[in-house]
Amino acid sequence: MTLPTMKSILILTAMKAEAQPIIDKLALEKVPGGISHPMELYQGIVDGLDCKLVINGTCERYGVDRVGTQPATIAAWEAIRQFQPSLIINAGTAGAFKKQGAKINDIYLSEDKIIYHDRRIPLPGFERYGVGHYPCHSMDELKKACQLKSGIITSGNSLDMSPEDEKIIHQEGAQIKDMEAAAIAEVAWMTQTPVIAIKSITDLIDSQASTAEEFLENFNSSVTALAEKMNEVLHYIASVDVLA
Ligand code: SAH
Repeated sequence: MTLPTMKSILILTAMKAEAQPIIDKLALEKVPGGISHPMELYQGIVDGLDCKLVINGTCERYGVDRVGTQPATIAAWEAIRQFQPSLIINAGTAGAFKKQGAKINDIYLSEDKIIYHDRRIPLPGFERYGVGHYPCHSMDELKKACQLKSGIITSGNSLDMSPEDEKIIHQEGAQIKDMEAAAIAEVAWMTQTPVIAIKSITDLIDSQASTAEEFLENFNSSVTALAEKMNEVLHYIASVDVLA
C-alpha cells in the first residue's frame, strides 16, 4: 500500500517577531539543527499539511533580524533544496499606499508578478533582469475564500523609498513594498516551485508619518492579524487542491 503524498508547505519569514504569532497559532515546534545556522526551522502538521517555517535568523554581527533580499535568497535556496515544498508562502509585513486604498493591518496576497524596485541597471538586457518580474502562483479562489486584498509586490533593500524607487514602483503598478518577496520569488522561479506572498500592512508609505515610526507602532497588531490570516489560508489550502 502506498500512502498518499502529503502536501508540503514552506513558510518563509524574515523576522522572528513576524514568525512567532504564526508558530503559536499553528502550534509548530522548533527543530533544533533542522536547517543551517543562523536560520531557524519550525515544523508541524496543520490539517494534514506538512508545514515547515523557516526564519532568516539573527545577524550575529549586529544582533538584529536578517531582513532584506540576501538572507531571503539564502533561506529560500537552502530550504527548497532541503524540503522540496509543493508551495512556498512568504509571510511578513509590508508598506502600502494610502492613495490606493490600503489600510494598516490589511492583508494582501501577491498577484501576477513580484518585482525589484532598486536593481536599476540601464544596460541592454540587464534592465529587465534588474526589475525581475518573477511570477507568483495565481490563487483567485484563495483570495475570495480568505477575503484578502491583492496586488503586485515590489522588494528592495531599504525601508524608506527614494524618488528613483518610487518611479519604478509606480511604472510597474506595484502596490505593496517589502524587502524579501522578490528574492524568494526569484529562487522559486529558478527551482520551478510555486510561490505566493501574504503581507500584512504595517505602514502607509504616502502618509505624513515616518515609515519607521509607523512600522514600530503598528507591528504588533499587524503580525497578530497576519497569523490569524495564515491560519485561515492554510486551512483553505488543506481543503482544496490549489496546486492542481
Ligand atoms: N526597525 C525594524 C526593521 C525591520 S525592516 C526592526 O528592527 O524592528 C522591515 C521589515 O518589514 C522587512 O522585513 C520588510 O520586508 C518589512 N517592511 C514593512 N514595511 C516596509 C516598507 N514600507 N518598506 C520595505 N519593507 C517593509
